Amino acid sequence: MIVAKFGGSSMADAEQFKKVKRIIESNPHRSAVVVSALGKSELEPVKLTDQLIKLSQLKSNKLQYQNELVKIEKRLADIKAALALNVDIVELLKPIQSPQNNLTEAEITSRGEYFTATLLADYLDWQMVDAADFISINNHQIDYDLSLKKLNQITNEKQHLIVPGFYARNEQQQITLLERGGGDTSGAILANLLDADLYENWTDTSGILQVDPRIINHSRKIYELTFDELQELAYLGIQVFNSAAIHPVKIKGIPIQIKNTNHPQDLGTRVVLQRAHPTDITGFAGKQNQTIINLKQYQLNRDISAIAALINCLRSQNYNFEYYQTAADQLTLIFNQIEDQELCNALDLIQQQFSNQLEINVQNHIALVAIVSESLKQHPAMTGSFIDKLDQSDINVKSVFQATNDIKVVFGVNNCDYQNAIKMLYNQA
Ligand code: ASP
Repeated sequence: MIVAKFGGSSMADAEQFKKVKRIIESNPHRSAVVVSALGKSELEPVKLTDQLIKLSQLKSNKLQYQNELVKIEKRLADIKAALALNVDIVELLKPIQSPQNNLTEAEITSRGEYFTATLLADYLDWQMVDAADFISINNHQIDYDLSLKKLNQITNEKQHLIVPGFYARNEQQQITLLERGGGDTSGAILANLLDADLYENWTDTSGILQVDPRIINHSRKIYELTFDELQELAYLGIQVFNSAAIHPVKIKGIPIQIKNTNHPQDLGTRVVLQRAHPTDITGFAGKQNQTIINLKQYQLNRDISAIAALINCLRSQNYNFEYYQTAADQLTLIFNQIEDQELCNALDLIQQQFSNQLEINVQNHIALVAIVSESLKQHPAMTGSFIDKLDQSDINVKSVFQATNDIKVVFGVNNCDYQNAIKMLYNQA
């Protein structure tokens, strides 16, 4: 069976609902569907989720929220009219309408997916199963056993289910939101619970490109990649798929197929445990505005007191580093840009404490540029040709991070060289 998740752009208006219905009905194996809230449409440039967040904020500040409510009601009523649905919109909106009703922001925001799922369930004549009735979070983690137990209590039929994405219930029995874009995660959780054969993720692009299209126009498409490769690319900023949604399907080896609701015939991108052709480079990604901190001291590996002082100082100021690399005399750490006077003062103190033996070097405005491929595991020396290429240009490579058995290599370059470095690496591959 297939769990299909449709994102906000796929659910933006009645025309999109029609496409979604055609897709669902074209394959009888698509028997469980997760939806995001109505996305931006031609008539309404704001996502339903953002409209609800605004409404909730106005409401809690005791300000006028009628305008927002009217806009939301119109969106739902337009879809109802265009698709000749039976849903009672007035009844549906009652909980968020009443000034007496003190719903939390999470409860109000979650109504975006709830309303959307209710409309789609009516349109398809399928059963709507509320995510809050079974997806359970315990200690910030999905409790799969409890979620499955609850799902089994709600329905024996694992057919023709519509589930609203983006929210769950926590151990205090409150509705809690997943992170923004979390509908992908809800779909992955449902695929896990139902032991799906495939998790389809329907969106508005025909899969993942090798490079951010803002840097390279019409770059090659990635037809197949592994969960780990997707995780690395998502971590460095590709936005087609929410990175938190990888784990629930990866642990059961359920492949993901990313597809385009507006062009369902396009192949899209498939995410699998193992690639059929793991020889080529999968993708390029990166992010700007990073800081490199480098500690250098003769035999730093034998006396780690300077490292301990640095780590304690970072800990006390709640800094998490992104990457680190060690060598006999050096430790290099990479952070999201730090321009914090307190940290600079603390680093000065460490420098004074270890005075003459230790050098601390901080570089700001650094960009990270990564090449991701499973083939780097078997052929780590592939990195050499990319370094050569960067070396021959006037791009100054500040650092290279590549761990043993790693599926990525990360270069640190100046922010201003970010796009050129990515273009150069892409053209070299
Ligand atoms: N509606 C939520 C958001 O806008 C969740 C999602 O779309 O997946 O972030």
